[in-house]
Amino acid sequence: MRIGAHVDPTDPLAEAAARDAEAVQFFLADPQGWKAPKPREDADRLRAADVDLYVHAPYVINVATLNNRIRIPSRKLLLGHAAAAAAVGARGLIVHGGHVNAGDDLTVGFDNWRKTFAYAADSGGFPLPILIENTAGGDNACARHLDALARLWDALGDYEVGFCLDTCHAHAGGEDLLGLVDRVKAITGRIDLIHANNSKGAFNSGQDRHDNLTGGTIDPELVVAVIRAAGAPVIVETPGGTEGQAADIAFLRGQLGPTA
Ligand SMILES: [Zn+2]
Repeated sequence: MRIGAHVDPTDPLAEAAARDAEAVQFFLADPQGWKAPKPREDADRLRAADVDLYVHAPYVINVATLNNRIRIPSRKLLLGHAAAAAAVGARGLIVHGGHVNAGDDLTVGFDNWRKTFAYAADSGGFPLPILIENTAGGDNACARHLDALARLWDALGDYEVGFCLDTCHAHAGGEDLLGLVDRVKAITGRIDLIHANNSKGAFNSGQDRHDNLTGGTIDPELVVAVIRAAGAPVIVETPGGTEGQAADIAFLRGQLGPTA
């Protein structure tokens, strides 16, 4: 089982080494901005590295929304990030499930997701797995609660779609971590990546506030149990910089044992 961290994008491989990480996740552009990613000069080195790479798409992307001025550029930006992530040899592009505005029909939001994959298919399809991530907050989210996730997966039935399970988002979003992997897999059939984070917010608080694994409101053993059940690679998106994340990675290795 490959374990790593979300790191600064300047030199992801150095960040991996500093944390003794076997995987890293990073951004290819400002996560709060709409700028398309630029080609990276270290693309060859990244592709050849013995570290598994994941790219997280900007937070501004919301392909589900009924607002054209957000949805249309979101689709374009997602495709741009997919191309750029594939160019560095990433194993997946993680994107949040998104939401519709209050009063808008979530059914249209799910169909907008389907249209996003259809739009990508028109230009040959996404060049790497797209991993849709569950989110913590909002009343109109596509991937906060499992009933919504099931409708999203129904809408995307024709397409190859991956899933990234964030333990902080699930807990804060109101989904019990106990037995969660089985309930998710019954819907998605797969979990491609675990975002292993503890939560500063309480259960069902809707707050997206990550904490280190042995802090926060989640029993750390539950996070470990999720990872074990999923059998998927792990990225910690926890605070504390190099030291804090290295400690979280070491904690997981200690809990998961040498066979992990
Ligand atoms: Zn996450």
